[in-house]
Order: sequence, then structure tokens, then C-alpha cells
Amino acid sequence: MIISKDFPGGNISVISVDGDRVLLANEIRDTTQDWFYWAFHVTGCAGKTVTFDFSPKAWIGYWGPAVSHDLKKWAWGGETAEDRQSFRYTFGPDEDSVYFCHDLLYSTERFERFAREKGLAVSALCLSEKGVPQPLVTLGDGSDTVLLTSRHHACESTGTYVMEGILSELCERPIPGVKVLAVPFMDMDGVMAGDQGKSRAPHDHNRDYIDAPLYSSVRAVKALAERENVVYMFDLHSPWHLSGRNDVAFEVRKNVDMRPAQVRFGALLEAECRKAPEAFQYRTENDMDANVEWNQDTAMNSSSTGFFAHRAGVRVCFSLETPYFGQPDNIATQDSLLALGRCMARAIRAAYEKGV
Ligand SMILES: [Zn+2]
Repeated sequence: MIISKDFPGGNISVISVDGDRVLLANEIRDTTQDWFYWAFHVTGCAGKTVTFDFSPKAWIGYWGPAVSHDLKKWAWGGETAEDRQSFRYTFGPDEDSVYFCHDLLYSTERFERFAREKGLAVSALCLSEKGVPQPLVTLGDGSDTVLLTSRHHACESTGTYVMEGILSELCERPIPGVKVLAVPFMDMDGVMAGDQGKSRAPHDHNRDYIDAPLYSSVRAVKALAERENVVYMFDLHSPWHLSGRNDVAFEVRKNVDMRPAQVRFGALLEAECRKAPEAFQYRTENDMDANVEWNQDTAMNSSSTGFFAHRAGVRVCFSLETPYFGQPDNIATQDSLLALGRCMARAIRAAYEKGV
């Protein structure tokens, strides 16, 4: 059996292999608190049943690990122990190469292929700290700009599926007068390296909207804010691993003065979701107002939405949190998250047409 993290997004440490039981841990790297992301590749197990054990950490989701054979299609699989510290997987007789991940991994390669297939205009937002061009999608040419971002926190894959759904809908049916700018990978290096990305030392990309940002992508987005007429800004995230609020989709609002517009937008998004049962469902009752729980202005003003929600001209801005797993009647899958993105696009159109 060979267990590897040698692929984009890979993150694992093998502690021990004892027969058909493997003890593993995820790599925290420069994250300053405990976090849950992991992804690994297994070869040489065809026909065997193997237990992958993360104990004492319960870093397996409700529906088991995400399983893939090509890093493109991901589905929930395996048999998860009740304590969610381990899962067992039976490899088919010809199943010799399998990827397992904490969540529905969304790779930079997937986005490149998507952009190619849709004929999207992709330019370089900037070069990452490692010298990699970071994609910026430009869609439409109106005088009002809708800005979308994801992966301020590298591991938060669900937001990029939502972004893909938004862009799919809007390239098929553009909104007259609107230009969409989308940055799928704010922390490009972290996504490729399989970092947690959340709470990096000394701070992560979503605490970098300060006078002198550390990260080139944040400097580039701030420059873009200066030259574009941004009217809506949506930053697409995934929440904590699971439980409670982390199992539902919700707006995280900044700037109480913007609350009426955020509430109107939430109602429009909920209405679109109710018309699309295939979509991961969002309900506005789950939204989080400014200065509730961890969403305190004092801590969040250096976040992307803290920055944009207080800018002149920006009418609607929030983070949208979409769960890694969801609930039994509302499960996060590649398709349900893409469909939620399409609902989001329709809500953007409805809001724009109503002058929200
Ligand atoms: Zn986040």
C-alpha cells in the first residue's frame, strides 16, 4: 500500500501502518489553531478492505470521506465509524488508485477546464507569492461590477463550486449593464499545496485587508476596488468542519447600515432555492448579522467583506458560508452546490433588476 499527498491539494501524515489499519493525521502547517482538512491518494489496495484512522480527531464528515478516482468527480463513500474518527473502505478488485478527501476537493485544474469549456475570459489577477498566475475571470462589460471571490481560506472548497454555478448561469444569461469579476483562488499557493489556509501565521488572506497587505492577491483586489464600480461583492466560504450552524448555508453580514439590502437579497436567494429542489438549500433565517457570535466588527474589519461592506458605492456585500456536508435532507454534493450557485446568480439578477 502506498499513501501519498503528491498531488494538488494533498495533505496527510502517515503515523503507522499495521496490517489493514492505517493511522493518519492531517498536517496543520502554519495554521495557528487546530483544523480538519486532509486529502490523500492510495495505491496498491485493490481487493482489500482498509481502515483509515484519524483518532483522536473526528475529522470525517457525516457521509464518510469524499472519494474520487480522477480528482474531478467526487462522491461520499466508505463506511464511517460512529465516532467519525475512522472510516473503512473496500477497494474493488480493479480499484487500484483512489483519492480520499475531507471534503469535495475543488482543484485549480477543475477551474481551468471549466473556464476553457465555457470560453471564459481569464487573465492574471497577479502572481502568487510562489510566482503562479492567479486567475481572474471577466464576464460581461457593464459599468456596474459584481465581484466574486473564494478560497481566502485555502481548504474551503464548497465556495468554489458555488462560484462555478454562478458563472455558468451568468455566461449563459448575462445581466445587462453588469460586469462580473471572479477570483476563484485568493490563496492559490495554499490551494495547490493542500494547506488549511485558515488562521495562518501571522494572519490569513481574509484578515489581510489592511493598509499594507501581505498577500499579492489582496493587494490586487484592493487595486481592483479602486478602478471598478463594485456594486455587489460576495465572498464564498466554507464554515467550520460540521455541527450546528456549520451544517446550513448562511450569509455573514458586515455593516449594520447595509442590513436592509442584505435581508432583501437573502429573501431573493431563498426564493430561487425554493424553486430549485436540486440545489443545496439556503434559508435566510440562518443568516448571521454583524456583531453576533464571532462576527464582530473589531475582528472582521480586515476581512474582504469588512472592507467592501464599508466602501462607498457597494450596495450588497456578505460572505456566503456553504457547509462541507450539510444535513440528511440537504446534502452537499458537487451538483447541489453548483445548483446553489445558479440560484445565487438568479438572485443577483433579480436584486439588480429591483435596484437592491
Ligand atoms: Zn473562510
